[in-house]
Parts: sequence; structure tokens; C-alpha cells
Amino acid sequence: MDSSDDEGEEYLFKIVIIGDSAVGKSNLLTRYARNEFNLHSKATIGVEFQTQTLEIDGKEVKAQIWDTAGQERFRAVTSAYYRGAFGALVVYDISRRTTFDSIPRWLDELKNDQLRAAHSDTTVARMLVGNKRDLENIRAVSVEEGKSLAESEGMFFMETSALDSTNVNKAFEIVIREIYNSVS
Ligand code: GDP
Ligand code: MG
Repeated sequence: MDSSDDEGEEYLFKIVIIGDSAVGKSNLLTRYARNEFNLHSKATIGVEFQTQTLEIDGKEVKAQIWDTAGQERFRAVTSAYYRGAFGALVVYDISRRTTFDSIPRWLDELKNDQLRAAHSDTTVARMLVGNKRDLENIRAVSVEEGKSLAESEGMFFMETSALDSTNVNKAFEIVIREIYNSVS
């Protein structure tokens, strides 16, 4: 969180996006931040983030959203990536079962890492995201399975499509608002 001035408070929250390779993390971010979608997006090496500004209760809230940018392929997401994060979108692809099976591993990484240590008293908002909802005809993970995993982990849950925009803004905004509510 940033310091305040006379004009009113300003907030800056770091949010990370994690999940297996090719589940649509980068496209969720570009859809949200720039309203763009890439059919053949290429992984780039190194961490990238985009900043989105929202107004909540008349206050300027900035979300700095980090994308793993291909590191997940090498299981090389480092502590620095998680450090200081107030929120996380944990993403799988509803058409690929293996990406759903990986979710517990990603949640473990989040739990074991800096997130807890650095903000032990802070409510951290986590959202389980089943992306590629538009691929209903080849669905491999049911909505109920997603919901029930999220419930058991105390997370929010949403199915999204970065391709057709379904629920993308909503998913990010729920996380941002939850963080705002927990710190304001
Ligand atoms: P990342 O590796 O998790 O960052 O995944 P990308 O964002 O690079 O996306 C991987 C592939 O999935 C790309 O070919 C995207 O075009 C595609 N993709 C991403 N989101 C969606 C979606 O919501 N629906 C469909 N059908 N394809 C998607
Ligand atoms: Mg990516």
C-alpha cells in the first residue's frame, strides 16, 4: 500500500498469476489490462507486470499484476515473484485435466512462500480460475469440481474466457476489491 497525501489515499496492490504453462495466464492479463487477445502468444522469459487503476470508494487503487512470463515451464518461479503479493489468481484450463491436477502444487508454493511470511496478518485474496470456458465441447473439468476445490481451500472461484472476455474483469476486480476491503 502506498502512503497517502492530502488529496486522499492511494493504494498499490501486487497480484500474481500462477498456473501451468498455456492455461491462458498471459492472455487473461492482456485481456484485462489492454482488452487484447493473442491466438499464438509466445512465452517470453523474465517477469512482466501490468498496472491497472480502479476507483473504489472514491479512492485510487492500483493493481500491479504480475505474469510469470514462461518461467512455469522450468518450475523456476522464484520467491521474488511471490514476495509482497496481496492476491493471487491460480489458473487452470477447463479443457486440460492435468492443469487442474497441478493446482494443489501451486497452492503449496503460494503457502510456503513469502506471501504468508511477509504478511502473516493480512488477508490474502486468492481466486481459483478455470479458464477457456469457451471450450465447453472439450471440457475435462466440471464446474462442480472447480467450485468444490475452491471451497475446500477457502478461495473464490470463477470460470473465465480470455478469448471471449467472459468474467475476466470480474475475476480481477473481485480479488482487488477483497484486498482493498481487507486493508482499508
Ligand atoms: P500462459 O502460458 O498461461 O501464459 O498461456 P497463454 O496466455 O500464452 O495462452 C496459451 C494458449 O491458449 C494461446 O494459444 C492462447 O491463444 C490460448 N488461450 C488463452 N486463453 C484462452 C481462452 O480463454 N480460450 C481459448 N480457447 N484459448 C485461450
Ligand atoms: Mg504466459
